[in-house]
Amino acid sequence: MRRKLVAGNWKMNGLVKDCAFPKALSEALNAEPRCDVLLCPPATLLSAMSATKPDWLKLGGQDCAAQTSGAHTGDVSAVMLADLGCTHVIVGHSERRSDHGETNETVKLKTAAALDAGLIPILCVGETLDERESGQAEDVVVRQLLASLPACDADRIVIAYEPVWAIGTGRTATPEDAQAMHAAIRSAWPGRDADVLRIVYGGSMNPANAEALLAQTDIDGGLVGGASLKPQNFARIIQSAR
Ligand code: 13P
Repeated sequence: MRRKLVAGNWKMNGLVKDCAFPKALSEALNAEPRCDVLLCPPATLLSAMSATKPDWLKLGGQDCAAQTSGAHTGDVSAVMLADLGCTHVIVGHSERRSDHGETNETVKLKTAAALDAGLIPILCVGETLDERESGQAEDVVVRQLLASLPACDADRIVIAYEPVWAIGTGRTATPEDAQAMHAAIRSAWPGRDADVLRIVYGGSMNPANAEALLAQTDIDGGLVGGASLKPQNFARIIQSAR
């Protein structure tokens, strides 16, 4: 049985005052969650949050460099994230692929760097609207996955299926379409340990649609953007994960 993971990706949102979020989330939850809960705030807040968060809340970065250290101005390495107490790091998010021109090759190097640092990479894949409408979604996603994936055991990584057209648009994949894609990703996993691979869904997940998505056989959690910024909303999604 795979334990569910609900992760919040704050993207470029959050100031020092928002380090009170874990406390507000605990209050909104009222009891320890039954799933793994991860928060990925901007790198500027990781240190302060790491000092004050409850034990059950894990912390992650939103990106890491492919290199460990050195002359790479502005970059943050996976080793640095681990040093701050992070357990996870998002890699290959579609916003990094589009804003920073990250290719599958770059993402593969970053995923390998995360693994080397002892972090669990959350490797993001997803098709565009054109690719879905032309019936190529599964092929595109599986190709992207295999091209971005270094050799790795399934229990050392999380795959996030995030259809680009569903991110920040209020448009969510139907539970059936998301389930079909998650099943395709699991079948394409190159190892024999696909049954332990956690595959989470991201793209306009909110308190109203989370339960139906998280009830699908192959949906092992969520990667939540906008709805993770408010403790009440994030708590309701966490409570939907059984
Ligand atoms: P939204 O939940 O805001 O659509 O963002 C999803 C996402 O990109 C999470 O990584």
